[in-house]
Amino acid sequence: MTELTVKENMVASVHYTGTLPDSGEVFDSSEGREPLSFLVGHKQMIPGFEEEIMGAKVGEKKEFTLSSERAYGDRDDEAVMEIPREQFAQLEEEASLEVGMQLVAQMPHGPSPFTITTLTAEAVTADFNHALAGQALTFNVEIVDLREATADEQSHGHAHGADGQHQH
Ligand code: ZN
Repeated sequence: MTELTVKENMVASVHYTGTLPDSGEVFDSSEGREPLSFLVGHKQMIPGFEEEIMGAKVGEKKEFTLSSERAYGDRDDEAVMEIPREQFAQLEEEASLEVGMQLVAQMPHGPSPFTITTLTAEAVTADFNHALAGQALTFNVEIVDLREATADEQSHGHAHGADGQHQH
């Protein structure tokens, strides 16, 4: 029997910790949670993350630092826009807006998360850049499990949980 390795159309389950290389701040980690399961080769993960673990076996550990180009990309100034504050009137009946708040806009192509960066009486400045855009990221990854993806997972383009049985 050949040993399984990370490659396209495998479901990989990993434990990971992501840190900012400059400050050492942990921005995300699976520690204390179930491992993260994802379908390899279907853009479920940032590109560099998959590239770095390709060919790895179960039990293997990897540490790597990705430039922003291989992570969440560079910041795009055009992804920052001013929205008339009156468009938030309904929301403001329930919650007060604050700088740094993360909200989700319903756009024609789907839900788009953004962060409020400036707030005036007339306008809300919304930054649609990913919070980690423009940043280099360091990951420590352990491959916990590997299996072939099911036909459903391959046609859906995502993993159905660690065991492939997750219904949605
Ligand atoms: Zn699905």
